[in-house]
Amino acid sequence: MCDRPKIQTNGRPVTRDGGRSAIGFDPRGPDRPDTREARAVIRGAVLDLDGTVYRGDAALPGAAETVATLRERGVSVLFCSNNPTKTPAEYVDRLAGIGIEVDESMVLPASTVTRDYLRDHHPEAPTYLVGAPSLASYLADAGQPIVEDPRAASVFVASWDDQFGYDTMADALAAIDDDTVFLGTDPDRTIPAEDGLAPGSGAVINAVAGTVGREPDRVLGKPSAEAAEEALDRLGVPAGECLVVGDRLDTDLAMGAAHGMTTALVLTGVADRDDVADSDVDPDYVVDSIAEIPQLLE
Ligand SMILES: [Mg+2]
Repeated sequence: MCDRPKIQTNGRPVTRDGGRSAIGFDPRGPDRPDTREARAVIRGAVLDLDGTVYRGDAALPGAAETVATLRERGVSVLFCSNNPTKTPAEYVDRLAGIGIEVDESMVLPASTVTRDYLRDHHPEAPTYLVGAPSLASYLADAGQPIVEDPRAASVFVASWDDQFGYDTMADALAAIDDDTVFLGTDPDRTIPAEDGLAPGSGAVINAVAGTVGREPDRVLGKPSAEAAEEALDRLGVPAGECLVVGDRLDTDLAMGAAHGMTTALVLTGVADRDDVADSDVDPDYVVDSIAEIPQLLE
């Protein structure tokens, strides 16, 4: 694994308020002589889903046990995915199917980060979406005005869309001028698929950016500040008391590293050990799989 100090938790089960009543409690007492005294106690964990908790349709071994152990140790758990096509309710069902009970409020997909960003910054704004029908319904159900006419839009959202084509690029040209807010749901250029890689939201965003000749104003999902802040807000912990576990250096780990969270890379998804050596992101921990996370806890 590695010789870094183990992760400190408060060792008490998560309470109804997510364990927040325990903040400030240090089971080691004030006189512990070693250098670990200054280390933060971890009270929240952000777990990536695909490649971390499950891969394709199959749960990764030890995932449910690790979630249970974290909760027993006083760590609140939030699940965070860059998939912009699914809703929290769908993830709740999927996780229940692999033995993980979770409340919708503790599931944060890129669809929700996008919904909340629009709600907070551009409510009422006519929004043109290049994305999955499921995302269009999700945003519309939340009250975002989704328009069919690209010329009517003041906000343009680009996301994964398997119908993307020349007509979409024409719509982007019609929709986006200097004043249009141009957003992306998540930066994932590729998605692991059965037979290799499939184009993800990032590919669509880049195609739109190339078509209209300007970069998006903001790309949500991991590793954005919007995703990090919403995750911490839901966990009710500061960044220094949060652990991020994921399989991608450029999203999961980058988000954690940029915001002062403790980071653990699992090797069950996209990244391997060679990628770690080549990356600007230096994980605090590298483990074979999520099953090893309990071993990191002191
Ligand atoms: Mg992943």
